Parts: sequence; structure tokens; C-alpha cells
Amino acid sequence: MSAQINAVGHTKRVFSGIKPSGGLTLGNYLGAIKRFVDTQDSGVETVYCVVDLHAITVWQDPAALRYATRELVAAYVASGLNSDKSILFNQSQVPAHAELGWLFNCVARMGWMNRMTQFKDKAGKNAEKVSLGLYAYPSLMAADILLYHATHVPVGDDQKQHVELTRDIAQKFNNDFKVEGFFPLPEPVIEGPATRVMNLRDATKKMSKSGDSDMERINMTDDAEMIAKKFKKARTDPDGIPSEVKGLDGRPEARNLVDIYAALSEQSVDAVVAEYAGAGWGVFKPALADLAVAKLAPISTEMARLMQAPDELDRILGQGAERAAAIANPILAKAYDIVGFVRSR
Ligand code: ATP
Ligand code: MG
Repeated sequence: MSAQINAVGHTKRVFSGIKPSGGLTLGNYLGAIKRFVDTQDSGVETVYCVVDLHAITVWQDPAALRYATRELVAAYVASGLNSDKSILFNQSQVPAHAELGWLFNCVARMGWMNRMTQFKDKAGKNAEKVSLGLYAYPSLMAADILLYHATHVPVGDDQKQHVELTRDIAQKFNNDFKVEGFFPLPEPVIEGPATRVMNLRDATKKMSKSGDSDMERINMTDDAEMIAKKFKKARTDPDGIPSEVKGLDGRPEARNLVDIYAALSEQSVDAVVAEYAGAGWGVFKPALADLAVAKLAPISTEMARLMQAPDELDRILGQGAERAAAIANPILAKAYDIVGFVRSR
């Protein structure tokens, strides 16, 4: 059903974003950035955002936020995004995000928000002390996507529930105001062998840029020595690489390292297992580290170069914001009309 509704008057458009909430991880690269790049040349319009409004849902030092914002756009460009082909911008320079976000705060139901597992994970036992923004953030994320009438959202597996919430919000808005098809029901696009890269020290948790220990994640800017050290210390079990993929069942740490290898080398998990069948970790981990360095070093070198020219990064964000606003503002204006706001200037 949703595919039909999507088809009504909505051309395919891709939107996604990443929070400038710290150094980028291999999870962000494989689950998001690499796939943004793959989508860029597929002939559809691609809009990629640095979602700074989301970053401040937890405390960010202002100077660190500015740095992380520029570093994220540097990572986008260094990984192969082209600011002529894709719209690259930071969210706070397009105020329509916050405005549509408010409308959606009034559409989304408390019961829906209470079911968001990521809030529970992030708030933990501290739910009384976290910001209201952290609780409301999935409704702002719905606004980010629907402000562009985006139909496809490439994300990691951890964001699936939020894209589903976006569909619920779109559907309720369309129903409540009797504007069927105004907002498309976007599809999450969760593909590849590394849709959820796990924490290297605890494979029950995903790898996150805001995780407690640096040893649990590979940062895109880590050097070769650090990458080798982190994989060497990554938790595993005593068995090495099995002879069949089935042999990874119930072994989340082993599965994670093989998935990462498959994603980085653009092979299937079967192919990796076939190549390394019977190998111990003493063989596999250094091979994985070499592969990660081969893929990440050129990107981090280019990121460092781009970071020497912050004005150029800011110019990309500013120009991208103008292009983004040109799409977003008319959609927001239409939403305001639909809701019944008087607009007389
Ligand atoms: P934070 O800890 O601040 O939430 P994060 O590492 O989870 O940071 P986000 O900015 O929340 O990063 O997410 C950016 C994108 O990266 C999203 O598409 C998300 O699904 C993807 N992503 C994040 N972590 C992983 C992971 N471990 N594996 C695959 N994709 C991931
Ligand atoms: Mg996250």
C-alpha cells in the first residue's frame, strides 16, 4: 500500500543526515556515508544533512560542535560526496526543519514516542534528567525527511524505528487534514553486510561515536597503528573463522568482524568466510586492520586537508543550505496553509 501512496506525485528523492556529536566511526561510514556516496550517482536527487539541531539533544561544547560540524562535511566530501551533485548542508541554517518539527510535535502521540527504543537506550536510568529535545528528536527527524518530500532514507539499522515513526506521522498528518498523499511515506533503505556495526568490546551494543570508551570503536580519523591495536584488542571467542556462514550463528563478536570485512571489501559474507575458512584471529584481525587502513587512510588524509580550509567547508554548507531551503520553504508554506495558519506577509 505504501509504495502506491509514495508513487502519487512524489518523485524519488533521498534524504539522510548524521549528527555532529563527536568523531565519526566505522559504523557511520559503512551504515551511512558510504551508502550516501553509492546513491549519489544513481540518478536521483540526494540531500545529505549535518543534523546539528539533533546533536544538541545532549550537551555539546560550542567549539567542539563547530569543529564536529566542519569535520562531518569534510568526511562527506572526502568520502566522495560532491556538493554539486548532492545538497550538503547543516540543519540549523534551514529554520524550516525546526518549524515543521514543531508541527509534528503536535501530530506525534506520546504513546508512539514512548515506544522509541533508542530513547530508552540513551536515557537509561537517567530518563528524568535528559533533555526534552532527546525525547522529541524522532519527531524532528520526521520533519527533516518530510520537509523534502523524501521517499528514501538510507540509514543504519538502528534508525529503522525512527523512519517507521516518520511514516506514521506522515500518514496521520495526511489523514487528519484530509490531504492524502501530501507527505509521502518514506522507505528506510537499510542495505549491505554492515547495517549495524557492533561495539568492539561488547557486541550486544552498536558502535557509536558517543560511546564511553575510544577502544570500542574505530574512528574514521584513527591512524594505522590505532586501527590495528583496536582490532587486536577486539573481543572475540576462541574459535576462528568457520568454514560456513552458519558457523557464525550465536557468535556476535565473530560475526561483527566478518561483517565489517565483507562491507569494506565489498564482498558477501559467504565469500569472506570461504576465503578465511579455518583461519585464527591472529591471521584474520591483522588482515581486517590492513583492509580498514587501506579504505580509511585516504579518506582521513583528505579530511585533514579539507579541515585546513574551514571557510571552504562553511561555503559548501551555506550554498547547500540555500538549495535545501529552496525545496523546503514551499513545502513548509503548504503545510502551514493546510494546518490553517494565517500567512499575511
Ligand atoms: P550518537 O552516539 O551520537 O547517536 P551515532 O554513531 O549513533 O552517534 P548518528 O549520528 O546517530 O551516529 O547516526 C548517523 C548515521 O549512522 C545513521 O544513519 C545511523 O543509522 C548510522 N549508524 C550509526 N551507528 C551505526 C552502526 N554502528 N552501524 C551502522 N550504522 C550506524
Ligand atoms: Mg545515533
